Amino acid sequence: MPKNPTPEQRMAWHAGHAANCPCRVMPAGVIRMFVERGLPVPDQLALQAAADKKS
Ligand SMILES: [Zn+2]
Repeated sequence: MPKNPTPEQRMAWHAGHAANCPCRVMPAGVIRMFVERGLPVPDQLALQAAADKKS
């Protein structure tokens, strides 16, 4: 990720990261950027992993 990423760069990076790595959930501020733009919030491996552990 660039040092001073634009919102679009942050969204792209977090979308790619969340889909491929369960190390952490997407920050609320990043999720808000998707919501504010009317875009679907990307699936997150971290949330799937947490759900898998419960079942
Ligand atoms: Zn990660």
